[in-house]
Amino acid sequence: MPCERLRAVQARIARAAADAGRDAATVRLLAASKTFDAEAVRAMAACGQHEFGENYLREALDKQAALRDLPLVWHFIGPIQGNKTRAIAEHFSWVHSVDRLKIAGRLSAQRPAGLLPLQVCIELNVSGEASKGGVAVAELPALAEAVSQLPGLQLRGLMAIPAPATDVATQRAAFRQMHEAYEALIARGHALDTLSMGMSADLEAAILEGATIVRIGTALFGERTKHA
Ligand SMILES: *Cc1c(COP(=O)(O)O)cnc(C)c1O
Repeated sequence: MPCERLRAVQARIARAAADAGRDAATVRLLAASKTFDAEAVRAMAACGQHEFGENYLREALDKQAALRDLPLVWHFIGPIQGNKTRAIAEHFSWVHSVDRLKIAGRLSAQRPAGLLPLQVCIELNVSGEASKGGVAVAELPALAEAVSQLPGLQLRGLMAIPAPATDVATQRAAFRQMHEAYEALIARGHALDTLSMGMSADLEAAILEGATIVRIGTALFGERTKHA
């Protein structure tokens, strides 16, 4: 069952990449495993999936401890509280949800010296909803400039969670805005290679607009029934 789900998602990625005229190898699959237990992650890893995204620190640390025999790459993709930065800096390879300098500075300072810099994406609020996470588009250039100076971090690109939309045109418009913000940062001299966008319901639209990482939960693990 997990392997069939994984193959189905890989097939969706391959088809969308072909439609976009892109090589499917330029799109990485990140399995968003929040609320699913360590055994579900282990089963998915046995199918060949090695990158996992987690939203809740406590839950993630428990899973990492249970799975330390596996060579997995862990990404933190949830909102970040100031008192969680040390554990995130110590236990993850990537953070997709950096949206303010104070948090970025703490992650940088707390990244252990023996590890590679933490690979980070800045979360952009493309829908413009005040209640949602992510930096406003107008504030992105200054934040990117400041984050790129931090020695413990390597700025790789942008992440977004657009407001859900069922029609592809609306989905694509938000992802296109992401791509434009990304290209604008590259034009300012930032060496970026990552657009983290697209989830189970909209991965095709995201890939058409240039996603390089899609974060997929439901289509891989099934519906989430519990809240972490
Ligand atoms: C849960 C989650 C996902 C995956 O969402 P699905 O719709 O289940 O594929 C992707 N990104 C983030 C940040 C998430 O919290």
